[in-house]
Amino acid sequence: MSYSIPAPINSPQRILMGPGPSDTHPRVLAALARPTVGHLDPYFLQIMDELQTMLRAVFQTSNALTLAVSGTGSLGMEACVVNLIEPGDRMLVCVNGVFGGRMSDVAARAGAQVSTLERDYGEVFGAEEIAEAVRRLHPKVVGIVHAETSTGAWQPLQEIAEVVHAGDALLLVDCVTSLAGAPVEVDGWGLDAVYSGTQKCLSCPPGLAPVTFSQRAVEAIDRRQSKIASWYLDMTMVRNYWGESRAYHHTAPINSNYGLHEALRLVLEEGLEHRFSRHRRNHEALKAGLKALGIEYSVAEGLQLPMLNSVWVPKGIDDVALRSQLLNDYGIEIGGGLGPVKGRTLRIGLMGEASTARNVLLFLAALERCLLDQGLRLDCGAGVAAANAKYRNGE
Ligand SMILES: *Cc1c(COP(=O)(O)O)cnc(C)c1O
Repeated sequence: MSYSIPAPINSPQRILMGPGPSDTHPRVLAALARPTVGHLDPYFLQIMDELQTMLRAVFQTSNALTLAVSGTGSLGMEACVVNLIEPGDRMLVCVNGVFGGRMSDVAARAGAQVSTLERDYGEVFGAEEIAEAVRRLHPKVVGIVHAETSTGAWQPLQEIAEVVHAGDALLLVDCVTSLAGAPVEVDGWGLDAVYSGTQKCLSCPPGLAPVTFSQRAVEAIDRRQSKIASWYLDMTMVRNYWGESRAYHHTAPINSNYGLHEALRLVLEEGLEHRFSRHRRNHEALKAGLKALGIEYSVAEGLQLPMLNSVWVPKGIDDVALRSQLLNDYGIEIGGGLGPVKGRTLRIGLMGEASTARNVLLFLAALERCLLDQGLRLDCGAGVAAANAKYRNGE
């Protein structure tokens, strides 16, 4: 077979303001490029211990079983589901977007008897309706998405664990997009199994999925009658590698773990509270700018995620052409709508490293130009001016 050797990787510098991945800090890229060591090298074992300590800090938990699954956020979802669910177990999944839908698919594949509680895109669930469904269905596990990246809706969790535990069920939560961009209080809120991903507000390339399991969840895993259906994700084996015995399970993606280590150091250096308020401030400024351009959020005020801004495509605007122009002319990536709102919404991410005033102002200026080029009449400069006014009057 004949072939020619392709050119080496020379990826362009983008500004990643979509639904993920987000921009990575140069310190994370530098950590990824450090020499690979063995997965039982004393140096790497120390890195693993430090990762667990930092992950507990970011998840705000003291859960012993807290680690990074080798795979992206979706594998974190599979890991949580497959460890808690035995074939025939009932699971209630709250579906108000793509990722809730994915969770119910994963649960069914794991052999759960799945029931769903459904809401329209952009809406969230109340504790009372979940309590009612738990009383009616007696699920072993209730699954819910904290930050529904497909819709931009922010699910309050504070009261949910209580109603789930009242029904003797476990609460499984998707925090892929929320972790490190908005509060996730695993212990404070009583969450039992929580997964995230590295590529959203942790601002690390995709490839690892932080997970944490409460004591209650660990007991449920230890009480299982059947083997965990996935060999790779079996926490009763994976925990031995991350724990004291250091038993070989699979070879950890060494360099990806270096990257996560540096990303977590950056999060903790900034401080969780500062990081959350930075995300809020940039979201408020972007919102003020979009409003001045006549662009509306697709999610009600009060439920809007700070790191994922979902807005309606302005009338008469071709969203594919708009996103191509942003990418080609300005190097800015944003996302389009998914599922029933495909072609009708734009998803603007302000995640982790990408949540900056620089990006907000640049994006608004570039967006104006694209909208003008498509013939939209707008008050030129109004978006940037409104965002600047917000920054100047802000905290
Ligand atoms: C991105 C995302 C996932 C999936 O993560 P991948 O890294 O794409 O596998 C799951 N849930 C939510 C809410 C997400 O935003």
